[in-house]
Amino acid sequence: MKKIVAIMTACVLALSMAACGSKNPDQNASSEASSAAVSESSGAEASAASGEAGGLDTIKANGKLVMLTNATFPPFEYIGDDGSVAGVDPDVAAEIAKDLGVELEILDMNFDLLIEAVKSGKGDFAAAGMTITPERQEQVDFSKEYVKSAQYLIVQKGSSITKDTLDGTTIAVQESTTGDFYASDEVQAKEVMRFKGATETGAALIAGKCDAVILDKLPAEAIVANSNGKLELLPDPLTEESYAFAVKKGNAELLDAINATLQRLMDEGKIDELVTEHANAA
Ligand code: GLN
Repeated sequence: MKKIVAIMTACVLALSMAACGSKNPDQNASSEASSAAVSESSGAEASAASGEAGGLDTIKANGKLVMLTNATFPPFEYIGDDGSVAGVDPDVAAEIAKDLGVELEILDMNFDLLIEAVKSGKGDFAAAGMTITPERQEQVDFSKEYVKSAQYLIVQKGSSITKDTLDGTTIAVQESTTGDFYASDEVQAKEVMRFKGATETGAALIAGKCDAVILDKLPAEAIVANSNGKLELLPDPLTEESYAFAVKKGNAELLDAINATLQRLMDEGKIDELVTEHANAA
């Protein structure tokens, strides 16, 4: 809990430097340099270097499975107390690696870079609370869905804003997420403020830089829970979504392995357990 508050506080200070303000999502393609991708481990180059989608042979020969994520999205991925990436997705990925008999490595990068990173073979798969969308399905192959989610609205406590009165407001979102797509496509917003990390959106709202935040349910709940009563989650979902892991198109071997482990964990009720565990820890 404390670290999210710390991150949010840091982000308030950093707000003036944050990428935001563009009304046109296409203009953001070149803005990725504002916060550098951080490598969680040093040895990710091996499977990255070939640029090939690692079939299982490559993964087993390398002895490691490389997961790509964006660790600003509790409880699915966040920076844990020891400084490494923790959450539901890393724990599920660790099970996949275990079933394959290899080590897991995690690369933490901006969310808007993940699809390209999967396509170019920077890692074997993305696990990032990523929603299946038709546009993304044209670029990557998705596993089975393992979590149902939705976009929700966060407002300042006592605000009169609802999902029906969003036109003309300033809305903060995480760049290139389904929250961004909703704010950009379904609302006549005055401004869409786009941030690299999900937790930064809450800091912007607390600081009064925007009128509302649109975010996935559980990260939104985490932000509200850490807002010292300043923020409120509105009860009506804006969308219906499903999360899945993404692999390079055509990597059926890895997809089958991921699906087998996901199915096992779902049959065991393990995913729900992990969500509860990390919602309490994040
Ligand atoms: N589920 C949202 C999406 O896929 C947000 C994911 C995230 O920020 N990690 O766009």
